[in-house]
Amino acid sequence: MIPGTFDYHAPKTLKKAVSLLNEHEDAKILAGGHSLIPLMKLRFAAPAVVIDIGRVSGISRIRISDGHIQIGALTTHHTIGSNARLRRVCPVLPETANEIGDLQVRNRGTLGGSVVHADPAADWPAAMMALRASFEVAGPSGTREVSASDFFVDMMTTTIGDGEILSQIRIPEPPAGSGSAYAKMHQSASGFAITGVAAQLTLDESGNVSAAGVGVTGVAPIAYTASAVEDALVGKAPDEGAIAAAAALAADGVQDANEDHHASGEYRMHLATVLASRALASAAERAKS
Ligand SMILES: Cc1cc2nc3c(=O)[nH]c(=O)nc-3n(C[C@H](O)[C@H](O)[C@H](O)COP(=O)(O)OP(=O)(O)OC[C@H]3O[C@@H](n4cnc5c(N)ncnc54)[C@H](O)[C@@H]3O)c2cc1C
Repeated sequence: MIPGTFDYHAPKTLKKAVSLLNEHEDAKILAGGHSLIPLMKLRFAAPAVVIDIGRVSGISRIRISDGHIQIGALTTHHTIGSNARLRRVCPVLPETANEIGDLQVRNRGTLGGSVVHADPAADWPAAMMALRASFEVAGPSGTREVSASDFFVDMMTTTIGDGEILSQIRIPEPPAGSGSAYAKMHQSASGFAITGVAAQLTLDESGNVSAAGVGVTGVAPIAYTASAVEDALVGKAPDEGAIAAAAALAADGVQDANEDHHASGEYRMHLATVLASRALASAAERAKS
C-alpha cells in the first residue's frame, strides 16, 4: 500500500504544467488523487513523475456566460454540488455531483479527473453525454475542443494524449423551458454507479418536448447517448405513457453490457430503462415548473 518513488512538481500555471508533462516521459497529472493515488498504492500505476495541478490557477471555477456553463477541470464534485446557481440553471449537475462517493471523495475529487479516468461506473460521463458537453484540452501546440461523444474511447480510455491536460468543460446553457435530473443505482460499498441515467428535456410553448438529451453510465464500457429514447420523445408531451415508451429503449443497441460480481449485464440494461423513466419524469416536472 506504499507507492513507488516519484518526482513531484506543483506548477502554478497550465502552460507550465503542459510543458512539464511534455518534458518527462513517464509523467502523470495529479488532480484530486482519488483515483490515481489508490492505483499508485496498489502499484497498478507507477509514474516516475507526478505533476500536481492543484495549484494551477484558473481551472477550478464555474462560470455561466455567453450561453455556456464553463466548469474548470479542477473543480471538485463538492463545489459543483453546492453551487446554488447551477441548481437553478442545470440541476442535473449538482444532483450528479452529490451522488458521488462520500463527503471526502466529493471534497477532493474533480470533474476533470473523473472524466479523464473514464471509469465505466463513474457518474459524470452520463451527464456529459446528456448535456452535450465539450472538453477543452491543452497540449504543447495549443488547445483543442472535443465533444463528449468523441472523448470517451473505451473503458478507462479517452482521446486525451500523453502530453495533454483537460482544462475546461463547456456545456450549452439550457434554454428556458428546460429541466434535468440524474437517477442512479449505487454500488453499496463505494457509491459508484451500477447504472446511472442523466436526462435533460426542453419543452416548447405547447408543452411538447423540443429537445431531449439522455446519457447512460454503468451499462457499457463507456457512457453512451440513448438516442432512441431522445428520438422517441421529441415532439411529444412528456406524459407517463410517452416517458415509459421512450425509457424502454434506454439500452437499445448495447451489445456487451458490463458484467461483474455486483450486477449482470441483463440487470444493468433493465436498470437503464427504470432509471431513464425516473430521470425523465423528474426532468419533465422541472421543465414544466
Ligand atoms: C471511495 C471512493 C468512492 C468513489 N465513488 C465514486 C462514485 O460514486 N462515483 C464516481 O463517479 N466516482 C467515484 N469515485 C471516484 C472519484 O470521483 C474520483 O475523484 C475521480 O474518479 C477522479 O478524480 P480525481 O480528481 O481524484 O483525479 P485523480 O485521481 O487525480 O486522477 C485520475 C486520472 O485522471 C488524470 N487526470 C486528472 N485530472 C486531469 C486533467 N485535468 N487532465 C488530464 N489528466 C487528468 C490523472 O493523471 C489520472 O490518470 C470514488 C473514489 C473513491 C476513492
